[in-house]
Amino acid sequence: MKRIQRVAGVVVGSAVGDALGGPFEFGPRGAFSARFPVPGAGGEMCGGGGWDPGEATDDTQMAVLVAESLLERGGLDLPDIFTRFQRWAASEPKDIGLQTEDVLTNGMPWDLAAAIHFQVNPRAAGNGSLMRASTSAHFAAAGREATMDAARRIAALTHGDRAAWEGTAIFHELIRVTFEDTDPLTALPDILALVHPEHRDRYATVLAPDWHPDQATEFNGAVWPCLGSAVWALRTTTGFEDAIRAAIDLGGDTDTVAAVTGGLAGAYYGLDAIPAHWSRPLHVPLPGFDGRVLHLADLLHLAHRLGS
Ligand SMILES: [Mg+2]
Repeated sequence: MKRIQRVAGVVVGSAVGDALGGPFEFGPRGAFSARFPVPGAGGEMCGGGGWDPGEATDDTQMAVLVAESLLERGGLDLPDIFTRFQRWAASEPKDIGLQTEDVLTNGMPWDLAAAIHFQVNPRAAGNGSLMRASTSAHFAAAGREATMDAARRIAALTHGDRAAWEGTAIFHELIRVTFEDTDPLTALPDILALVHPEHRDRYATVLAPDWHPDQATEFNGAVWPCLGSAVWALRTTTGFEDAIRAAIDLGGDTDTVAAVTGGLAGAYYGLDAIPAHWSRPLHVPLPGFDGRVLHLADLLHLAHRLGS
């Protein structure tokens, strides 16, 4: 498979998962299959819960903000990403994570805001940095250390808990090896060896081949079961569409679990495996940025620029 297939597959796959999962957020298990029992029948990009059909939520909106910063600044400029996040958060996006909102609006400088929030709120290992990593994963070209380092640093802008950094770093590395035509699932033991020792066991548990989302000890809005569920969805299915269906059917934080799944599955199966009736209606509003709305062609353009 050509690399650009995988590169575009991550960005579009994650956005598709996000937009499909949004209307099912906090819903029960099996809700997606109950409503759409026949895979491939169409109509799944249905909207609801305040979302238009094909409308991407905060996961993709923040991923686009990261992408535009990386491209316009010619690399990683953490204060610039933080400023873009703040501008977006101040413009009343339809959805924003509680912790992310606190950190972006507490008036603290970019390099202290998340750490100070973490001191007061020790339970800060949400999936909010993992959810937006589909674009920063393009640090893949810079190699293993650079991509994991970038993941940790971008995560730390909003998440003071190292567990969130490590989960995002694992996602970046999974994408990197997939770009190199390595099976991400077989690479997992090597990747776990690169995780901070204090966090390795917990990730080893949720990424183990026999782990099932039923065994999660937290709601899947936490980083560990979110990443574990996405990897489980990739492992236990045989195509992009089925992976996304499995992810949304878990219920809970469906947009983010499906966004992470869609990023992994998009890299693994490539852009052409993403159903066109899912990708065509995609649109990503950017509150705070002059009413801009990105469509599929814009996402593809972003992915091409990130990957080149
Ligand atoms: Mg969301």
